[in-house]
Amino acid sequence: MTVPILTAPRSPESYVSLPPADAAHPRPHLPARLSGLLELAGNLGWSWNREARALFRAIDERLWHVTRHNPLVFLRDVEPAKLVACAADPHFIAQYDAVMRWVRHERTDGDTWFARHYPDLRGRPIAYFSAEYGFHNSLPIYSGGLGVLAGDHCKTASDLGVPLVAIGILYRSGYFDQRVTLEGWQEDSDNTFDLASAPLTPVPGPDGAEHLVSVRMAGRDVRIRVWRLAVGRVSVFLLDSDLEANAPEDRPLLSKLYAGGPTMRLHQEWLLGVGGVRVLRALGITPGMWHANEGHASFLFLERLRELTTAGVSFDDAVAQVRASSLFTTHTPVPAGHDMFDLDAVAETTGPLWLELGVTRDRMMALAHHPDNGDRFHMTALAIRLSQHVNGVSERHGVVTRELWQHLWTGRRPEGVPVGHVTNGVHLATWMANPIMQLLDRHVGRDWGHRVDEPDFWDRVLDLPDDALWLAHLGLKRVLIQAIREFARRAFTSQDLEAAQIVGAGTLLDPTTFTIGFARRFATYKRASLIFHDPERLRRIVTNPERPVQIIFAGKAHPADQPGKQVLQQVYRYTRDPRFEGRIAFLDDYEMHLAHLLVQGTDLWMNLPRVPMEASGTSGMKAALNGVPQMGTVDGWWEEGYDGTNGWAVAVREGEDGDAAAAERVYQLLEQEVVPAFYARADRSGVSPQWARMMKHAMRQAGRRFTGSRMLRDYVAQFYAPGLRGTGRPDDPPIG
Ligand SMILES: *Cc1c(COP(=O)(O)O)cnc(C)c1O
Repeated sequence: MTVPILTAPRSPESYVSLPPADAAHPRPHLPARLSGLLELAGNLGWSWNREARALFRAIDERLWHVTRHNPLVFLRDVEPAKLVACAADPHFIAQYDAVMRWVRHERTDGDTWFARHYPDLRGRPIAYFSAEYGFHNSLPIYSGGLGVLAGDHCKTASDLGVPLVAIGILYRSGYFDQRVTLEGWQEDSDNTFDLASAPLTPVPGPDGAEHLVSVRMAGRDVRIRVWRLAVGRVSVFLLDSDLEANAPEDRPLLSKLYAGGPTMRLHQEWLLGVGGVRVLRALGITPGMWHANEGHASFLFLERLRELTTAGVSFDDAVAQVRASSLFTTHTPVPAGHDMFDLDAVAETTGPLWLELGVTRDRMMALAHHPDNGDRFHMTALAIRLSQHVNGVSERHGVVTRELWQHLWTGRRPEGVPVGHVTNGVHLATWMANPIMQLLDRHVGRDWGHRVDEPDFWDRVLDLPDDALWLAHLGLKRVLIQAIREFARRAFTSQDLEAAQIVGAGTLLDPTTFTIGFARRFATYKRASLIFHDPERLRRIVTNPERPVQIIFAGKAHPADQPGKQVLQQVYRYTRDPRFEGRIAFLDDYEMHLAHLLVQGTDLWMNLPRVPMEASGTSGMKAALNGVPQMGTVDGWWEEGYDGTNGWAVAVREGEDGDAAAAERVYQLLEQEVVPAFYARADRSGVSPQWARMMKHAMRQAGRRFTGSRMLRDYVAQFYAPGLRGTGRPDDPPIG
């Protein structure tokens, strides 16, 4: 079988996305000498290039801050006189020219890792489907870890030259903004964003129509408009149903992430899977591999089956062909976390699709059958049956996934279930702070960015001078605490907060105090309130006058997750409890910008999921890249990542009461090891040598084993390259 190559044009403009200019949003007027700034702003690649970020900052640092690092808004609002002055400043122009040379270099596919290692596979796209993406805080189309991981996957593919093309949804009302009431109850409001403030280009349909494709759903046609987002070399096509040609009830179908009831979810997933395949076809892109990131996108497999059967291929052959070019990544270790729908609701949504597949309704439904949920349509089961390979996202999650899904292979023991793993990683250039990069420039050499994948490179961070590392870290900690004060000041001014809330927002935090960070979704298994298991014992730890401790919390509960909201409320109460002397803080509205501040500016990252419910976890990797060690339960990535030198493991013995035993272990570690290690220093401004060693080992381990680059190279070697070449050894299909 030959795999057709990418036929979509690869002109330089295709690397840029700009919203349509109109009367309300005119293009900014730039001096001719700086006209490239708009091109720079039109591709999210600027966000992980520190010279590009520095360029915008140099024009107007305050405005760059106020616009929350959004270059399109920035260029619209900046005073023209400032741009004129920059255009006349030789130092600025030198910086500008260097960045524009990089832009041009990036936009030629040239000499990338992928091109060097897989010259035969260039231009053979891999389609990547995900229901959410976290690229930048200016695009609120993600809810948490899954989305940020998908974003990091695309950015890394761009860096390495892996020919990925991505499909997602443009949620115009975003995820949600979080505000916590005086009683600690989370209130959710839409996070609607202005499309003109994001680098999105509409992709018109044939004859200039607004919609590019349409999808038959529940007996009617839903038209889909498509927006292109340029993420370095990777194009992301985002689906949107909000257009006049659609029935009023269909317009908001794709407007909100994980909102509405099961029917809305089903409809969204149907549009994502079926619509996504059709978008690629309409653009003339013929993927050689299809990768579904989590089960939300599984309908893509049904659409590809339909394409084949309606072209005359038999159902069984079509199943074999679809499997041969598909990969499915699962992220959820708990059965309830997997999407399931009513069979009748599915039949209603798809219409009599089985007729097009040439089988009975029961035969089609059997593709998504799970023996434990016989009367449901199981999106994960569908993806597993129609993918040649399935992977979990850490070694332990691989084990858990094999146990969870063994019943699909009747009579198999878990060890024999063909599910592998690729441990997650994070995009270094997105998550490592400038001052840490500058430290590496000075002490390892300015070309370090090109050497991070060399086997022994990361050993060199062990030689960083303690005091220089500490100074860089302290600077980041001050930035965090200053930002927290600024957030609190704004909330105080605009929301009429009470004094206790101002304290709870972190205004009494102190940059010289040992600071623990805990930020993630408030799902109950993440146990945000575990540390309060024995409040009196924690109070003694936190308020120790010689060695005080402060803890910063952030995170959203899913709008429908009442128990999660209750945990948040519990934590919030302690932030206002005078016994803790203002040393416990909760920050509203956790998103990527706040995540940066926290993983870069705290001293210790804490992660206490109930084992084995964390598939991987990634925020601890981000922290570690910045020299912030982790204290965590032995789950997800930490089971592989903890090596005794780079943090602490909270291990609970078999048979102990999980929560009580884990809390006891956390207290013991803090009292006997962690806090003393941090404060083991000659004076209050200096660094503890013991702590500095821990920081360096955290960086070394994360850099060696938990970057997006390692992750993507694993995906290419294990799945993408064999899949594109047709040389992969097929895993045995499940029964049924
Ligand atoms: C990294 C990240 C997450 C995921 O963190 P976990 O440790 O996997 O829970 C969630 N939200 C944001 C904004 C992130 O940046």
